[in-house]
Amino acid sequence: MLDPREPLARELVRQLRDRGIDDPRVLDAIADVPRDRFVPPSQLAMAWEDRALPIGCDQTISQPYMVALMTQELGLSGRERVLEIGTGSGYQTAVLSRLAAEVYTVERHEPLSRAARERLEGVLGRENVRFRVGDGTLGWPEEAPFDRILVTAAAPDLPDALFEQLAEGGRIVVPIGSEEYQQLHVIERRLGEPVDRQSVACRFVPLVGKEGWDGHRWRIVR
Ligand code: SAH
Repeated sequence: MLDPREPLARELVRQLRDRGIDDPRVLDAIADVPRDRFVPPSQLAMAWEDRALPIGCDQTISQPYMVALMTQELGLSGRERVLEIGTGSGYQTAVLSRLAAEVYTVERHEPLSRAARERLEGVLGRENVRFRVGDGTLGWPEEAPFDRILVTAAAPDLPDALFEQLAEGGRIVVPIGSEEYQQLHVIERRLGEPVDRQSVACRFVPLVGKEGWDGHRWRIVR
């Protein structure tokens, strides 16, 4: 029997290609990860649409276009160890786990981390992802250095700990800016120094933590 997801996945990939996503491995991963398994039942009808959707704990599953773009910006070859900050639903984690060797993902909300783990391990049978509940602005020092770091929440600035945990020649993709407006930054580590390039404008939920925003409003903790 034909998988009912197939036409929906094809249409989503077509839209992403129209918007400039041209890495075939990224597009294959988007088509292959069943986004309908990552949204609450109330959002099921919109699961394959190119938009962010609520997932509980006041958070959202990222828009597929942003997931695809950020993944493309990471430039994965398949050999990397990747740190992801903001597990959320685990959808972006699932895309990364297809394209990298190992994924370490940190989420501050325990129920979201637990649900994401159940999806990735129980439903999709992924074995290359490790989950942690905590403040991702501090990274995951015990497992550093990482070849790539992806932050899927909006930071006021690049957290120092994340740059410290980036391998030489590695790359961080992170949205940086204010509540209203952020810019996606692609930051490489060359001879120990950050080399920063700006990608598209974007809008994410806040990165809340010691090197992020305050928990109640968009105010820096430090
Ligand atoms: N990529 C996820 C996006 C989730 S939204 C998806 O597609 O589902 C961003 C997530 O970052 C939220 O779940 C939020 O709780 C989490 N987050 C915010 N600040 C964090 C921090 N300091 N450490 C870990 N997770 C954080």
